[in-house]
Amino acid sequence: MEIKKGIGVSPGIGIARAFVLDSEKYRIPLRYVNEKDIKNEIERFEEAVRNATKELENIRKRFLRRFRDDATPIVEGHIKMLQDEHLKTQILEFVKNNKYSPEYAVSRVFRRYVKTLSGSNDPLFTNRIQDINDIERRLLKNLLEERREELTDLTEQVVLVAHDLTPTQTIALDRHKIKGFATDVGGRTSHTAIIARMLGIPAVVGLNNISFDVSGSDTIIVDGHNGIVITNPDEETVKKYAAMGESFSIFEKKLVDELKNQPAVTKDGYEVSIYANIELPQEIQLALKYGAKGIGLLRTEFLYNTPQRLPIEREHFDIYKKIAVQSGEKEVVIRTLDLGADKMEVNNGSKEKNPFLGCRAIRLAFQQPQVFRTQLRAILRASEYGNTSIMFPMISSMDELIKAKDMLAEVKNELRADKIPFNENIRVGIMIEVPSAALIADLLITQVDFFSIGTNDLIQYTLAVDRGNERVASLYQPTHPAVLRLIKKVIDEGAKHHKTVAMCGEMSGDWLYTILLLGLGLKVFSMAPIVIPEIKKIIRSVTYAEAKKISNEVMSFQNAQETLDYLKKYTAQILPQFSS
Ligand code: PEP
Ligand code: MG
Repeated sequence: MEIKKGIGVSPGIGIARAFVLDSEKYRIPLRYVNEKDIKNEIERFEEAVRNATKELENIRKRFLRRFRDDATPIVEGHIKMLQDEHLKTQILEFVKNNKYSPEYAVSRVFRRYVKTLSGSNDPLFTNRIQDINDIERRLLKNLLEERREELTDLTEQVVLVAHDLTPTQTIALDRHKIKGFATDVGGRTSHTAIIARMLGIPAVVGLNNISFDVSGSDTIIVDGHNGIVITNPDEETVKKYAAMGESFSIFEKKLVDELKNQPAVTKDGYEVSIYANIELPQEIQLALKYGAKGIGLLRTEFLYNTPQRLPIEREHFDIYKKIAVQSGEKEVVIRTLDLGADKMEVNNGSKEKNPFLGCRAIRLAFQQPQVFRTQLRAILRASEYGNTSIMFPMISSMDELIKAKDMLAEVKNELRADKIPFNENIRVGIMIEVPSAALIADLLITQVDFFSIGTNDLIQYTLAVDRGNERVASLYQPTHPAVLRLIKKVIDEGAKHHKTVAMCGEMSGDWLYTILLLGLGLKVFSMAPIVIPEIKKIIRSVTYAEAKKISNEVMSFQNAQETLDYLKKYTAQILPQFSS
């Protein structure tokens, strides 16, 4: 049994066999071979070693031709390792004695090496880990050939263990089969974390090298509350966690039943709205089930998920229309494409050095006007069928906002000319997620119907901390006074101009900050559907007067920790079940 601590990013308990997804997307499940097939399986392994060696020989030759001297110790080291008799014996013993498939035997032996090396403090050994992983991958590639198992072919429930998950992988997931996520990298607002919360799947990220330590047959417990992952737990531990998971589900269900149709109103009658964020059209059902008053953020990046092909207007339109119809009277805020950075790119163009500071979201939309116009047309057309609004991401200046609005006006004109109906009064808003936008909120507010604060990015850009980098996760502080001042300014400007200010960043769905945001005057909280009941519960347990007092006090604090301790203590006092 091994316990690892990471960052708990989606609550709940998941227990299942591990599905290890390495960077080449191979899955190595525990497979046994029949006694009568052992000979053939050994031959298959020998063949894979020969092929892998041949590949390396070719690389070495190419290298020699290009550089004319034998500067290939790394490749030679790999060849030597592949030929190593001790290594081969260990693998083949697993095949002969345990009847493991050669793939599984390879992964088992290599993982053991990696584990031993990573326990050493000597860089001479730890530097070898990369080599060992490379050799393992090459050998597996040759062994698996066409037998690769894809994430989409899951036949049993699993805990997904990976270095990280790309947006494409997460979108393709069969959520009914995934009991939990455990990844090497990531922070609270990394893509995997957001998706996990959105799907209501327990997740722990920032576990460093879990994807190397775990094999396909290991049983894994993911404790998303406490950020703990346990590999190969004993029976007692499994029982304990299964019971915890059960009581969490009961608690959740009770909360949902109790609060679904209740307003988010404080004890002294101050009402706010709780909306849902969704990433995929089918999540609308989840949002409605959890009692969302509307959709505060429909991320549209999933539409660009098909490589080499852009979605056509019809595809956009069908989806937006469906969501608009399903939501009825409820508002749906459709955010225009936020591609780039850690999300998908429109064309697989040159890699950027600093993608988060690069051609992302609205910037990319301006560089690819046709792609943007197609989306705008579809959103406008769908506005005929429900209560939809448009939101532009990553606005950082007045010029950008005017330009986006001008393009929208042009598309509206085209539709009018074509006699295609749309809602002439469609509401237009922007995400406030760049500090420059927060600082000129007083100017921007005059040009829009609403703001939605994107704290995931606002925090990273304000504090210069990559939101997905677990190494600096402790510096990613939502309660940093600089962040709170910007949030306050944006909310105050909205109030001054009688315009709605929402928040759709993850901070809005984190119970630690609910009372503070309420006190600061936030009117619309938008979050992953599953956390709606608990946030509603908190709102219904305080008075607005108290919340105001608390936020006033917090705004005088000098550092993030002070605020965090204060909020933790206060929330736990009024709602002991929220103490952590
Ligand atoms: C945000 O930045 O807070 C946000 C909601 O947008 P995303 O997480 O999609 O960047
Ligand atoms: Mg953002």
